[in-house]
Amino acid sequence: NEKSYKWRRVLLKVSGEALAGDQMQNIDPKVTMAIAREVAAVTRLGIEVAIVVGGGNIFRGSSWAGSSGLDRSSADYIGMLATVMNAIFLQATMESIGIPTRVQTAFRMSEVAEPYIRRRAVRHLEKGRVVIFAAGTGNPFFTTDTAAALRCAEINAQVVLKATNVDGVYDDNPRHNPNACLLENLTYHEVTSKDLSVMDMTAITLCQENNIPERFLTGVRCLKRIHSPGINPSSGSKDE
Ligand code: UDP
Repeated sequence: NEKSYKWRRVLLKVSGEALAGDQMQNIDPKVTMAIAREVAAVTRLGIEVAIVVGGGNIFRGSSWAGSSGLDRSSADYIGMLATVMNAIFLQATMESIGIPTRVQTAFRMSEVAEPYIRRRAVRHLEKGRVVIFAAGTGNPFFTTDTAAALRCAEINAQVVLKATNVDGVYDDNPRHNPNACLLENLTYHEVTSKDLSVMDMTAITLCQENNIPERFLTGVRCLKRIHSPGINPSSGSKDE
């Protein structure tokens, strides 16, 4: 760990969709293991990793609201609970390969996980533990992308990395359009002006206002690129 990296602390957003992999089940253990190994590789470099997990593989509030008399807030609380399931699964996988991990939930579930306490989360990170933030922001009408931007700002992480099931941001959905182009070096302006559905507007605005560089490194293997040249150059080099 002689080398110092520009990103000392990163916030990885793992979407529920990524966890599902290609499986019909909600969670693909091969995916959680791939993520755990990537995280292990990055923590070995001395980079602190915090994770925000999504829940879309299990339950997405917006798609259920209105049906069967379910109001949006109730649906969103179910969605937030879904993120806790993913968090516990991911924690178990990480600990199975020896990565000390703590889960913190945005609302209390103290038999299951710690409550979110910012200073405590930071202390865990400083001790080399991975912290998984679950239950989003704890508020309905928000998303875990917004939770990622929020927690990133709160714990002073240098970047939000987003693990999804595609390998980058495209100008169209690459799963449906074979001619979709991969867009490199996106700016916030391009994301909003081209209406690219990378993150929701609340999350983007939060990143932008807090000068959080959103590199949109995507794909389950996005962590691997943390120490690639040009992505996380040593601290002495030119800023992006
Ligand atoms: N959610 C919420 N508030 C939050 C974060 C999440 O109400 O701060 C709910 C919302 O219903 C959402 C679900 O939890 O649909 C799962 O989160 P999300 O859709 O962001 O997960 P992802 O798309 O990353 O899988």
